[in-house]
Amino acid sequence: MQRAAPQEFSRVLSSMCTEPHPAARDAAERFLATNPGDPETYQEVARLERRAVETLGEIADLSDPHGYVTSGGTEANVQAVRSARNRLRVEDPNVVVPESAHFSFTKAADVLGVELRRVPTDDDHRADVDAADAAVDDDTVLVVGVAGSTEFGRVDPIPELAAVAHDAGAFLHVDAAWGGFYLPFTDHEWSFAHAPVDSMTIDPHKSGRAAVPAGGVLFRERAGLDALAVDTPYLESTSQATLTGTRSGAGVAAAAAAMDALWPDGYRREYERVAELATWFAAELRERGFETADVDLPLVAASISEPVFERLREEGWRISRTESGELRVVCMPHVTREMLTAFLADVEAVHAA
Ligand code: PLP
Repeated sequence: MQRAAPQEFSRVLSSMCTEPHPAARDAAERFLATNPGDPETYQEVARLERRAVETLGEIADLSDPHGYVTSGGTEANVQAVRSARNRLRVEDPNVVVPESAHFSFTKAADVLGVELRRVPTDDDHRADVDAADAAVDDDTVLVVGVAGSTEFGRVDPIPELAAVAHDAGAFLHVDAAWGGFYLPFTDHEWSFAHAPVDSMTIDPHKSGRAAVPAGGVLFRERAGLDALAVDTPYLESTSQATLTGTRSGAGVAAAAAAMDALWPDGYRREYERVAELATWFAAELRERGFETADVDLPLVAASISEPVFERLREEGWRISRTESGELRVVCMPHVTREMLTAFLADVEAVHAA
C-alpha cells in the first residue's frame, strides 16, 4: 500500500529527492557515525558500498562495475569529467554536453579547468547528434548524453553519441542520475549493454529511494576509477578515488538497503505507478487548457503563465520552471494522485479568481 506523504513532502512537486524507503531510513540511522572514506577502519560500511556498486552495475547492465557511492549526481559528474581529463591528458581539454545537461557540468568544467561546449538539442529536447559531432575535436576528452533530463525527462540517443565520442578518441558518459531507476523498465537504449558507454551517473538518492546523500558513479574499466586515485598517507587504506574525504556512511548504507528492498520488482512497480500517474496528470492539465510536452519518463512539463505559477507557489506548492518557462512536475515516489488532484483543484481556483 502507498504510504501517505509526510508533511515535508506533501506539496513538493518539483524535487528529484523523495521520502526514503523505510529500510533506507533505518540503515542511514545505524551507519550515521561511519566513514566509508576510510574503508579499512569502517569495514562493514565498506562492504555495503561494494554491494551497492554491484547492484548499481546490475541496474545499468555492467557485470564488473568500478565505482562508488558519491555525495550525489554533481560529484559523480565532476568525477567523470576528471577521470576522462586525467586519462587522456590533452593540452587544452574540452567536454561536449547537450544544452539539456545538468548545471553540475558547468561546475565540473570550472573546477577542472576544462572547456565546456554546450550543443543544441532538437525539437524534442534531446541531444542533437550532428551538433555534437560538429563540436568534438582532438582535444575532446568526454561527450555526455543525458538519460532522463532534469527539465523534460528526455533520453538522448546514447549509441549515436557513443559513436561520436569514440570516433573523436574521447570517452562517453551517461548522466542517468534521475532516470537510472526507471530506464530498466523502458525500451530506451541507455545502459552499458546498449552502447559502449564508459561511465555513468546513477543516483540512489533520487528515484532509488535512498536517504540523501547517495549518488553513484560507475566506470566500465578499472582504469576509469584508478585515474581518480590519490595516495592517502595517514589512513589505514593507501589510496582514495572519491572527491570528498570523510563522507556519510548513512548515504552508503541507505543506498544498499533501498536497492536490496526494491531491485528489481519494487522499482518496476514504482515505475509503472508513476508512468501512469504522469500520463494521467498531463491529460488533466490539457483538459484545463495547458499545453504539455509529450511525457516520456515520469516528468510533466506544461506551459504556464507567470501569474498563475506565482499564485500556486503562494498556495504552498513547491513547483519550478524550466529555463524556457514551462511548469515542471516530477512524479517522484512521494507524489500521489491525491496530491495532484489537490493541485489541479488549486489550478482551477486560481484560474477562476
Ligand atoms: N544530473 C541530473 C540529470 C540531475 O537531474 C541532477 C539533479 O537534479 C544532477 C545531475 C545533480 O545531482 P545532485 O543534486 O544530487 O548533485
